[in-house]
Amino acid sequence: MITDEDKLIRQPLFAKGCLTFKNSGHTLILDRGYYRCSEQVKGNCHCKEKMIKVKDMVRRFDNLITKFELPEGVAGKVFDELLMVMVKQWRRASQRDVHLEEILVSTGNIIIDQIKKQKEISKTDFLEFKRTFYTLLKNQYEEMLFNYLLDPLFTLNPWPKEQDEMAAFLRKSMGINVQRIRMNFSWHVRKLYLSDDGQIDSMEFENWSWYVMQYTKRHIPEFMADFKKGFIVNTRQFSTLNFFDVADEFSQNDFRDALSYSAFATNYAKEKILRKIFDGFEDLKPKAQIEYLKKLDGLTKQSFYAYFATLNRI
Ligand SMILES: [Zn+2]
Repeated sequence: MITDEDKLIRQPLFAKGCLTFKNSGHTLILDRGYYRCSEQVKGNCHCKEKMIKVKDMVRRFDNLITKFELPEGVAGKVFDELLMVMVKQWRRASQRDVHLEEILVSTGNIIIDQIKKQKEISKTDFLEFKRTFYTLLKNQYEEMLFNYLLDPLFTLNPWPKEQDEMAAFLRKSMGINVQRIRMNFSWHVRKLYLSDDGQIDSMEFENWSWYVMQYTKRHIPEFMADFKKGFIVNTRQFSTLNFFDVADEFSQNDFRDALSYSAFATNYAKEKILRKIFDGFEDLKPKAQIEYLKKLDGLTKQSFYAYFATLNRI
């Protein structure tokens, strides 16, 4: 069950398995203010890998982000094009989901009716409700992937005036509040490879993020131009950078390859999210059951939480 007390879990700066010593392939873990080799902790590592102060690692990462920053005066161009893609995406999504939303509401109402009449909730109806809710969550994943395209314009944009203008536009015209936390760049990084003394040697983007970087670069040729060959290990070339084509391609296998983690990629993750949302429902009092069903269907904290839980490791 998702309760009002549930807090959205803050992602750590570096996801599990992101920081990796290049030579040994050992990943690093957070241990009392330091990042250190996870194998060393278990006594399995005899390499000369240093412990790295969290503070130092954050500083090195921050320096890295600086190298990805956009030049002045170019973000607006990409932003204008993305707004058009966004509107198209919304239209497609609402056409796609309108039927599912009807099913969710009507099934929810049937179940509420059963509860009110003190009948046993039909298993088939409840399963239908769960399945529809899950499918809607999954469909929204494409929207989240779209939002990642906007990310560089905010997280990699050091020009406050440009940021303010774009953020104000999104807020006023679409009711979207953008995050512009610089360190959110780490969400795009699948691997950060370190030398034994903790210097950043090379990096790998998440597959979807690599597309985001390529999209950005198409509009801003100077972007990522200063890196030594091999520093970024992704090499995939996209035959098209059209959002819908690329998103369709990634959706073929339930977005399994888009990001390291997706609640849709494995049955285990799917079960986990469904349990988080629905376990304990049967133990609620009838009135609370009705309230809960209503909360899942709409812009409530519960539905919002479920959405984020599919993205994070909750
Ligand atoms: Zn090690």
